[in-house]
Amino acid sequence: MSQTLPRATAPLGRRGQFRRIAQFARLLWTHAEGRGPRVLTLNTLGGLTEGISILLLVPVLAALSGDRSNVLIDPAQIGLGWTGLGEFRLNLLVLLLGIVALVTATALLNRRALLLTADTLSGISNRIRIDLAASIAGAEWAAIAKRRQADLTHLLTGEIDRVQAAATGTINLVQTVIVLTVYMTASLLISPVMTLIALLAGAVMLGALYPIRQRAARMGHRMTGHRQRQYGLVDTFLSGMQVNKAMNAETRAVGALSQSLEAMRGDIVRLVGLGSIGPFASQIATALGLCLFVYGAVSLTDLPLASLIVLLFVFMRISPRLMLVERLLTEIVQSLPAQDAITEAAQGFRAVAEPAPSGPELPLLRQQIRCRDLSYQYDPEAERSGLGPVDFDLAKGEVLAVVGPSGAGKSTLVDLLAGLRLPQGGEIEIDGRALQPGDARAWREQVALMQQDVFLSHDSIATNLRLARPEADEAALWQALERAEAAEFVRALPEGLETLVGDRGTQLSGGERQRIALARALLRQPSVYIFDEATSALDHDNQQRIAAMVDGLRSEAAVFVVTHQPAMLEIADRVITLEAGKISKIAVPES
Ligand code: ADP
Repeated sequence: MSQTLPRATAPLGRRGQFRRIAQFARLLWTHAEGRGPRVLTLNTLGGLTEGISILLLVPVLAALSGDRSNVLIDPAQIGLGWTGLGEFRLNLLVLLLGIVALVTATALLNRRALLLTADTLSGISNRIRIDLAASIAGAEWAAIAKRRQADLTHLLTGEIDRVQAAATGTINLVQTVIVLTVYMTASLLISPVMTLIALLAGAVMLGALYPIRQRAARMGHRMTGHRQRQYGLVDTFLSGMQVNKAMNAETRAVGALSQSLEAMRGDIVRLVGLGSIGPFASQIATALGLCLFVYGAVSLTDLPLASLIVLLFVFMRISPRLMLVERLLTEIVQSLPAQDAITEAAQGFRAVAEPAPSGPELPLLRQQIRCRDLSYQYDPEAERSGLGPVDFDLAKGEVLAVVGPSGAGKSTLVDLLAGLRLPQGGEIEIDGRALQPGDARAWREQVALMQQDVFLSHDSIATNLRLARPEADEAALWQALERAEAAEFVRALPEGLETLVGDRGTQLSGGERQRIALARALLRQPSVYIFDEATSALDHDNQQRIAAMVDGLRSEAAVFVVTHQPAMLEIADRVITLEAGKISKIAVPES
């Protein structure tokens, strides 16, 4: 079933944009596992050493026109008069070596900051991903089944990558702001007037580009939609390849993908266009600003040449960083919709988390399961959708079969009995104790479910078997395979238990996959076996053999089979007929 994914929230206003980024920065801070202060300190120290080395350039440059070997350091000249330090002379070589040492320290600190930031960032994106995955895993099956798988894949991969881009952007923004502050302080110390003018110009530029960022944010929402559609298309394209091939429709599927990609292409170009306006405008503004600055400095102030050169140098370094701030802001507002989508999904799944166990532990089934007035409706509005109420019991040692036309409610009943869906009406009683919502997990420990479509992961046979019981040793695996009549063919495989089964088990035949699934069910040693059309795809001979095996399971458990196969019906003690969600007949086959 598909469900439309997160609505794109409306783009934010100017203050909203900054508030949203600040909110995101706080989230990063909490996800950074206490590394935030270290990242900040390293960056600040790097900025400080760089700032001091720049300030020291003033006396060096001044010395070029005076006593070249003994540089006069006048604290007042570099805005440090307030420290009370008097003038002093320093050997030029010593001063230059000092500057090299400071630059080396800056480089070392920046490198440490880079490594720590990379590590922190990947930790943050891992945590966001795991948080979402855990909220999906903890949700009720009914809620997970409602969501389109491709949408969830998209959230867990592409969207997390965008969040990582937003996080990288935010950390870069913080780093850039720190460096900018240092430069600004250095230039303030040299010439407060000129700095204030430059600051004002920068603020005007950032403000003027706000509408562009606003449009970029809107485009970011559209990108979320595009990407989501594409994940869906790619998923349908790949999973439906066999049908597409069989119907010679594969080129049409490629056509649909191509159409969606072309639609996105236009938006990408628009997005790049928007992104390029900032650097374009600020490049021109910078050239203009620098000319005005030189003109202003020469005509308005009487700055010495050395200070003027250093100030120019500082502003030349400030302007690309201002451009960077603009670019980062645009990138962040573009990528934040992904974070909204992830948060919304994670909260949505947490809201439908499976209830935690409450009350005493569920004992193992000893006698019988009783389904009392059990019902489940997918859509309360629809006249008929789902199951019930149905009433029946299933004793340990019994094989109960269910038949009925398609849409009768058999799969719904299987889901309820397997503890995957919680009944909306009625109860399931285990030896007289009504299953509570919090018991679902404990109940599933006692259930082995086998469906027609066997899921095997692209892994070894051993790993696939251990899904049922991780601690099972090799002897237990072979024992289960023997009972499922699968040991012979597994032994004949090139690497036995360690043979890879191919994606979703494609290296095995249908019958072999069923046997592996059966061995997996046996390994679980459950109180109840549920077979949901599990043998429908098998040939007559295989059905007979599996039916004989299932017959043997009654000695240790209750057995519930949804089937239309004569071989399975023959071993049933009772056969329930379901029609339109209700039990229309209960028959006892003649033995
Ligand atoms: P069966 O397994 O016997 O074919 P199901 O249990 O799958 O029947 O379906 C019972 C009824 O519930 C049908 O009317 C079907 O259309 C409806 N149904 C099944 N799954 C869903 C779903 N996910 N959402 C809405 N209706 C559903």
